[in-house]
Amino acid sequence: MRVIILGSGSYSGTPRPLCNCENCVRARKYPQYMRTRFSVFIPEIKALVDPSPDLHYHLKHLNMDVKKVFITHAHFDHIAGLPELQIFRGIKFYSHEYAVNIAKHLQELFLGGRDWKYIPLEFNRWYDFGFRVYHFPTVHQPIEFAGGFVIEIGKNRIAITGDTGPEILNDENAIEVMRGVDLLIAEMTRKQSIPGTHLGVEDAIKLAQKVEAKKIVFAHISHSNYTQEKLEDIVRDYGYIIARDFTYVEI
Ligand SMILES: [Zn+2]
Ligand SMILES: [Zn+2]
Ligand SMILES: [Zn+2]
Repeated sequence: MRVIILGSGSYSGTPRPLCNCENCVRARKYPQYMRTRFSVFIPEIKALVDPSPDLHYHLKHLNMDVKKVFITHAHFDHIAGLPELQIFRGIKFYSHEYAVNIAKHLQELFLGGRDWKYIPLEFNRWYDFGFRVYHFPTVHQPIEFAGGFVIEIGKNRIAITGDTGPEILNDENAIEVMRGVDLLIAEMTRKQSIPGTHLGVEDAIKLAQKVEAKKIVFAHISHSNYTQEKLEDIVRDYGYIIARDFTYVEI
């Protein structure tokens, strides 16, 4: 089964306008260093995780039908591309009630009537929709309702942390539900963790070691993080993957 990291960047993307850091300068010159905003696609169930503001660019290259949309949380970089889904019929949205209501509002505001369905998920329980899904909460201030997912499709389990502070390292429940998954996609926003908000490099690696997934990919990488090559050097001995845009992962 294949999973595609459509966007590997964080909220401002790389390059960020007017920024002259090493990552932004290089990304302007060489497009392979660009990072669009975080998004994932799971072709097996036609599922998009997080309709990012770069969704039009993602869909243009992906060229696949979207039937399900999971939303980790209702921050701009994870939900603002929702109106780009206008070309698809019969989409089902899955997230905590808070994000689902914002998704519905964006649809009504920009698109009017659609045959889309909104399925609010309570945190910390399994749902069975033909595939299984578990939505666990994360600490990600200032938003109150943010979370990650474990999605089980046949024998394959995929965990996506969403945006999370380093508090996830002490969240026994989240670690337990992610433990041993076939693929963990974890955020690694900055060089250093921001308590209550984002994971830095060291804590993202600590999380990966606790979860012991069969494959581990780091994404949601800020322009202010290390370069792609430096990050690859740091995780090389562990066998982890640093996502670029459109990284294909086979599980
Ligand atoms: Zn984000
Ligand atoms: Zn920059
Ligand atoms: Zn966020």
